[in-house]
Amino acid sequence: APALPPGVVVVTGAARGIGRAIAELYAERGHRVLGVDLTLPPALRGHPRVRADVSTAAGRERITRLAREEGGVAVLVNNAAFQGAPGSVLEVSERGWSRTLGVNLTAPLLLTRALIDLMAPGSAVVNVASVQGLFAEQNNAAYNASKGGLVNLTRAMSLDLAPRGVRVNAVAPGAIATESVLAAIAASGDPEQTRRDYEDLHALRRLGEPREVAQVIYFLGSPEASFLTGVILPVDGGMTASFMMAGRPV
Ligand code: NAD
Repeated sequence: APALPPGVVVVTGAARGIGRAIAELYAERGHRVLGVDLTLPPALRGHPRVRADVSTAAGRERITRLAREEGGVAVLVNNAAFQGAPGSVLEVSERGWSRTLGVNLTAPLLLTRALIDLMAPGSAVVNVASVQGLFAEQNNAAYNASKGGLVNLTRAMSLDLAPRGVRVNAVAPGAIATESVLAAIAASGDPEQTRRDYEDLHALRRLGEPREVAQVIYFLGSPEASFLTGVILPVDGGMTASFMMAGRPV
């Protein structure tokens, strides 16, 4: 099989959850990973890591400097996200809206731009969107808008970066059993019922595992996907295959 172009795999939001699973999978498969997060991601034997806020110019410059030292970028995974401003369209604060759009939508644009000259033909960008970028959830206006924006930004990026031989795709995960999702379930009034409710959103009747998302991202970034660009791939156990919650009408 053809190899990835030279350089590191940059994974943002690598300290926990899906990002951590992505970093671990690339490292296991012999790739050099640059893990990025607000707090220093856990050490992966011998791999570089950096503390950086992707929504700031200073953070992006730190990432770019390290990536250059590593000889370029083979794959950029824009995974970091801010999910801390829930609320309906009538409630969401302007500040929460800005932070959400800044981290989830603007940062992927600006980080890709910062790194593009370090990406050789054959390299790839994978954006981590959400089923909430395809359809909306009540009381989550900013996150919905940010992920919907990221979905169409992915298509725009695929067109504009095609002349450089850089492919751009996205995944749209369903509910994934990350630390934060499991903590939210545990903090609910009836954790067992809440867990079942989440499970029942998916045709496969379970939550996804972070590694199951990482495996699809790995594929999208790899030469096996060399004729795929501009695609939004749901990794959602069949959630978006139905207009009903799996098995029962909503
Ligand atoms: P998480 O909140 O557990 O982890 C996100 C990581 O990103 C954290 O370590 C956080 O510190 C980091 N981060 C946040 N803002 C940052 C910034 N400005 N700069 C650098 N790092 C920053 O999230 P997760 O559940 O693992 O989700 C990862 C991605 O998958 C996100 O894009 C999320 O929207 C998406 N997603 C998750 C689910 C799910 O069920 N967990 C479902 C659909 C989509």
